[in-house]
Order: sequence, then C-alpha cells, then structure tokens
Amino acid sequence: MELAWWQKPIRMMRRDFLGDFSYYLTADLGAMAREAKERWHINCEWIMATPGCAPGTAHLVTFNSRKFDKVPGLGDFDIIRSYLPHAKKYGIHLVPYINQHWYSYEFAKNHPEYTQQLLEDGTPYGEKYPLYGNGTTFCVNGPWREFAFEIIRETIRLEVDGCFLDGPVIFPKCCYCEHCRTLFYESSALKEMPPFGDWNHKAWKPFLKFRRESWVRFLKDAQAAARAVNPEAVIFLNGGRFDTYSVKTARDISGMEKYQNFSGAEEFYHVTESYKSPFDTLNLGRFLSAGEKPGVVFTHHTLSSWHKVPLSKPEMTLAMTETVASGANTWFAIFMEAMESRAKEAFEANDIQKFFAEHEEFYTATESAAETALLTSADTLYGYISERRELFADAGSGKEENLVADIGDGSIRESLNERRTVSESILDKELHGAFDAANFSHIPVRVFWDNHVSTDKLKDMAIFVLPNSACLSDKQVEVIMEYVYNGGSLAAFFESGFYDETGRSAKRTEWLEFLGIEKIKGAFRPAAYEEYMLLYGDNLPGMRRDRILAPRTYNALKIIPGKDSKILARFLNEIGGYYAKTQGVSEFPAVILSERGKGKVAYCSGTLFESFTKFHLDDHLDVYKSIMRTLSADSRLQIETDAPGSLAVEIRRNEKYTLVHLINTTGDMKRPIGRIVPLKNVYFSVRFPKKPRSVRAAVSRTELEFEKTNGYLKFKVPEIAAYELVVIE
Ligand SMILES: [Zn+2]
Repeated sequence: MELAWWQKPIRMMRRDFLGDFSYYLTADLGAMAREAKERWHINCEWIMATPGCAPGTAHLVTFNSRKFDKVPGLGDFDIIRSYLPHAKKYGIHLVPYINQHWYSYEFAKNHPEYTQQLLEDGTPYGEKYPLYGNGTTFCVNGPWREFAFEIIRETIRLEVDGCFLDGPVIFPKCCYCEHCRTLFYESSALKEMPPFGDWNHKAWKPFLKFRRESWVRFLKDAQAAARAVNPEAVIFLNGGRFDTYSVKTARDISGMEKYQNFSGAEEFYHVTESYKSPFDTLNLGRFLSAGEKPGVVFTHHTLSSWHKVPLSKPEMTLAMTETVASGANTWFAIFMEAMESRAKEAFEANDIQKFFAEHEEFYTATESAAETALLTSADTLYGYISERRELFADAGSGKEENLVADIGDGSIRESLNERRTVSESILDKELHGAFDAANFSHIPVRVFWDNHVSTDKLKDMAIFVLPNSACLSDKQVEVIMEYVYNGGSLAAFFESGFYDETGRSAKRTEWLEFLGIEKIKGAFRPAAYEEYMLLYGDNLPGMRRDRILAPRTYNALKIIPGKDSKILARFLNEIGGYYAKTQGVSEFPAVILSERGKGKVAYCSGTLFESFTKFHLDDHLDVYKSIMRTLSADSRLQIETDAPGSLAVEIRRNEKYTLVHLINTTGDMKRPIGRIVPLKNVYFSVRFPKKPRSVRAAVSRTELEFEKTNGYLKFKVPEIAAYELVVIE
C-alpha cells in the first residue's frame, strides 16, 4: 500500500522568532529552506501563521488575508506565500503553526461575544491566571470556535500541507461559561455544575467526561474545516499523556486520534533540582505511537528555562533517538536568537538526524516487536481513588536529617479529595516506574491503551503488565483472563482490576481468585524507611541468594493468598521506627505466582513501580526482572545483555528488518548530560525465531558476527556511543 507523506518518517522543526518576523523581510528564503533540509535534516517545517508569543497574538496572521489582522511590521510581505515555493523545492512539507490558546486582553475586550474560559465564580481564566504572565484564552464551546475554524480555513487556502494547532487548551478549573453550562446540562441531564475538582460531587465525573468530549468535538470540527478547503490537509495538535495531568487538561488521546493525523505531545527539557529519568522521551513516544496514527514527540532544542541556549549534544541526541526508537517522529524548535552565538553547536547537537534522513528504510512502517505489553489505563487516570483507608496515612518523607527522622504522624487523610490526590500520586509514579523498570532492565515494552485490550491484540504478546491498572471493565477482565487461560502470562500489580471502569469498587471474587488472592485484609502504613520484605531467592530466578532482605514497597496490601499459589516474597511485620530490630516475617505475601490454564499469573501486592520511581533501588528492579523471568516460557528475557541499566533497548520491525535500537544514556552523572560515556564490547542475546541473513551496527557501519542457538541470536557490539541501531535482515 502506498503511504501518504505523513505516514513516512517525518522530521519536523519550527524556527522561533518570538513575534519579531523582520528576519524574513531581508532573509534569503531559498537559503533558509536549503538550510532546513541540509543542515537541520528535516522534511516538514512549521512556520508561524499566528504567533505564539507575548502579549497573546493568536488573532494576528503572518500572511495576507482580508479576514484577519496582520502582525505589525510586515507591510505587504506574506511570510507563508513567500516561503512556500522554496520549501517545496527542497521537499519540505509546510505545516503552519496556529496558536489557538493565547490572546491579548485587548482582543478579548473587543470581542466579548467570543467568550473567555471562565472559572467557577465567573472570572475569566486569564484574569486570574495570566497566560505566560500576560493574556487570556477562549472557550472551545463558545462562538470563538467559528473564528478559530476560519483561521484554519484561511491558512489551508495558502496551499500548504496542513496545520498544527497549538491549543486550544481547556485549562484546569475551567470552564463554567454559559455555553458550557447549556451543553453540559443537555448532555448529562444534570442541573448543576460541580465545583472544580470535587470528587464528592455527583456531577464531577460527568463534567470530566464532558470536558474530554468538548475537546474531541472541537478537533473533529477543526479537521472538517481544514478538509473543506483541502481534503488531504493534515491537522494535529499538542496533547495527551499517560499520567493524571491529562485529566486536568481534558486530553484524550484515543478519542482525538480519529480526527488528527499525528498523535503528538511535548517532552521539553526543563532544568530541575530533582531526579529526572533519562527515558522520559522514549516513554512518551511509545505511548503516543501506540495508536493508529503516527506519534510525534515535541522537543525544544533549548534548555527551556533559558530559551536562547540550545540543548547540549548529548541531551538533543537522547531526545531525538528516543523519539525514533519509540516509533514516533521527531520535532524540535530552535529559538533563533540562540543561533546568533551558538549556531555551530546547535547544528552539531542535531547531527544524528542526518542518519535518520539517510536511512529512512529503518524507520518506515515499523511496529513494536516487544513481547511485553504495558497497559496505560485512561479509565484508571479518570476514576481511581483507592478505598484502602490505610494508604492515606501521613508517612512523612522517610528522610533522616539532623537527628530527626521524618516519618509522619500516621494521621489519616479522610476527605475524598485528599484521597484522590494520594491515589494520583501512586498512579503517576506507578506508570512512570513501569516504563523505567523495563528500560533499566532492557525489556522492550509495547503500550496498550484501554481500547487495545482485545483478544486479537493480546495474542501476539508473551506478557501483559498491569501497573496498578485499577479501573478495568468487566469485558477487559474477561479478555485478560481468557488470554492467560490460553497460554499468556500476566503480571498484575497492587489494585489492578479491583474497580470497574468508572472507579467503583468491583468486588470481583473470580478475578481475585484468578490473581491468587483469597482475601484482602487491609494495607500496611506507607513507609519510605526501615520496612522490609523477604525475597525467596530459590523461587525467584536470577536472584543472588536464597533469602534476601530488601526494602519494602512504599505501599503494600495485606492479602491472604489462595492455596494453589506459590509465594515468592513476603512482607515483614511492621517495625514502625528507626534503629529497631525486625519483627519477624508476616503472613502476607508480596509476590505470588499462580498457574491458570495454560498460562501464569504473577501478582505483586505492593507498588513495586511506584517504589522504583521514588527510590530507584536495584533490589526492586531485581524483583521485577525476576517476575518477568518467572513468566517467560524459558526463564529468559526477550533481550539479555551485560550493559548497564543506562542503556535502553527497543525492538521494532518492518517488512524487511528487525531493528534493535540502543540508546546509551551513560553520562557524567547529571542532567543535562554534558558528555556520554561510550560502552564497549556489549553482549546481546535476542529472542529471534528465524535465521538472519546479516546483522550489522548501522551507525558505526560494522558487520557483526553472530551466533544462533536455541531460538536466540547472540552478538557483541564493539562500541555504543550515544546511539546504535542493530539491523537484523
Ligand atoms: Zn466554556
């Protein structure tokens, strides 16, 4: 089947002039297009149709239009019409950027009929929370939408390839305008709006659903507007993550994918004091690429806090290589003032994209070849509030400092809204940890969205991981059980499937028995200190010793296991303080294994992934890897290597090749990474049923010697700098 241009490998960029477009008036536009292709190695460029800069200029256009006001200073000069022929000459698809979320106060004042997003008390959002310090925003359900659609139509009339919408954003605490009220009452049959974030209110969950649907409806109509001018026009926007931030901004990736060409979201580098996973881009890219539309990860080629400083070469290389390894397309923005003094390093930092441009056959029409699936459950994001009272105890940080240990006072947070906050924290850490535990263990994972849980999609997967996927439908539970009875393996964590898809307690006796749980007796008090679990190494493949005392998971349920389940680890009785002896082994298991039909179920009653996010301990990684080995048919992982955890491994395939992406984040022990430390003579064993014709390391252009034994392909890579791509033909 012939692929459309946007279904082929796409490398996008945006040059950012921050509202001052005078550069174009004297620039050599042909040279700009040539530079885009030859030095930035891109094939799709965003160009501003409406600027995204202070003081909120989304109503101004950079092209000549009888319908919209022009950005001042451009005179008759039409940026898009002038640049388009040059872009075409160099094979660059032009996709203008349309800002649809940031307007000046003045524009809003002159157009009260467009309706700003309103807070509960009727205050316009931008008055209370000025956008980027200055400006406001309109409601997707108000008459502004017609203005927005007309800008889209007018942009597509320029004969460009499509457009990107930056926003609209349904901001947290919004929207309570008259249009939203009317629509909400009609669609929900309710008679009042809930206070924002009030999980006690009966209208709250319907309101969350309404916000998601408002978004999807806007995008549907925006796409129709673009297609009315050009049926081939591409349209997409920014949004959709796998954590609870999506709930606040109402993004719904599976609902939106029907109406856009790319599933895109941003993973910008932000300078921070706290720990930052080196694999955030990879994880987001996998999530975005899981659907039917190609993914794209938006990266700023900048330090973010200082936009006029480009990313270091190691950081830029990680962002770009993690993006393509996940199956997504690259995108970056460069702030042009950065180019005045740092052009050379900015170009060099992006060098790796030359490799992508010259080897498109390795990035075309690929799919994940991971044998492990990971569920990112949106229903759980929207519905999860644990009913285990003990989880809401104040446990402090667990830190001991200046002779004081912060272990909390044990008081229980009783309000539903506080309990939701705690549940969100568990869930977000569990999800991020599930990705990163896999990365640090070199286990490639394929992301499943809720709607992917089907017999057909699961049949190719060896192991299905539920990282506290608490809110599952009856149908999903049925499909998962059938998958296991037919020979699949399941790794279920904590409260997976304990609630229905709306978040109500599910009371599923059959499911609990299936997991190996006879009874749930409660939960331990959360603890970030001095509580332990005992690992039975003889039952946990890959462990160093028979009995290992390891830090307990931060959260832990007290369950009584079924008679037919094997106990792999147990929690110790609570110690309850520092510098005190252990109090013996409890009756409550931490990990159990059960045979079910032709398959196996490993159930972990602790939040292993949340704990990995919080503490980054190898003991927890070892438990995870051991669970994965236990569930594997031959006790081996899909990929085994002697590389450190800082090397991420992803495996994809297309008609011709199996592609093993190796991303080396080994650096100088800080972020942003200043320098990558190359890995030498790294051994790999990859489960591979066929006999390969050749195995080569494409970046270093080396043919690799390989051995094929018992279904595994074994080879050594002499050197891995920042990125290597092993091509198995
Ligand atoms: Zn509204």
